[in-house]
Amino acid sequence: SGFAAFNLAPQLMRAIEGLGFTQPTPVQAEAIPAAMKGGDWMVSSQTGSGKTAAFLIPALNVLMGAEHSQLNAFLGPRVLVLCPTRELAQQVAQDAIDLVRHARGIRIATVVGGMPFGKQIQSLKGASVVIATPGRLLDLANRRVLRMDHTAALIVDEADRMLDLGFAEDLEAIHKLCEGRSQTMMFSATFAPRIMQLAARLMDEPGRLEL
Ligand code: AMP
Repeated sequence: SGFAAFNLAPQLMRAIEGLGFTQPTPVQAEAIPAAMKGGDWMVSSQTGSGKTAAFLIPALNVLMGAEHSQLNAFLGPRVLVLCPTRELAQQVAQDAIDLVRHARGIRIATVVGGMPFGKQIQSLKGASVVIATPGRLLDLANRRVLRMDHTAALIVDEADRMLDLGFAEDLEAIHKLCEGRSQTMMFSATFAPRIMQLAARLMDEPGRLEL
């Protein structure tokens, strides 16, 4: 398939084939190799463009190549995806579960508001990927039930809606907690000045992919 050129882990290729994806969408063709190269990236993308797989595939691919000990999740999640709404977080988490179907040892946790704390805290144990809305994530971090100092990849989905919903300060606080991160990726429908200002605070000389 058109995904073969990315040299992905075989378990991930199987999952992609199982989903019936044969050719990468334009945002995937740009963002997957960019993310794999490393560094921070600002990516323009619309809903329906395949943006979710564009950030999940490279992030999960790294975990599938890792030794089990490196995934050891008492250190907290290796991959953190921030979404503006509960519904979007749940959709992204479902896509992530579909993509790790054939991989061992990768647990996905969803952290959103309006859900009981107990179950959510339980689900964080052993989770190497956390998909979250910002408010609840910070709440759990403040309660010391979640640490983010070993999070390698931070992904911000629908950054423009994040700003509309007043999450700018929460995003900055989360970004600071991800002390060990090596990559931040931001996805947004537009590159409006206010988005680029947020990008400048969260990222280090990001590359831009405008689709
Ligand atoms: P998204 O923009 O991430 O919400 O994705 C929109 C829809 O496109 C989802 O239903 C995905 O399952 C689907 N999709 C994502 N990537 C591909 C692909 N490469 N080929 C076919 N469908 C895809």
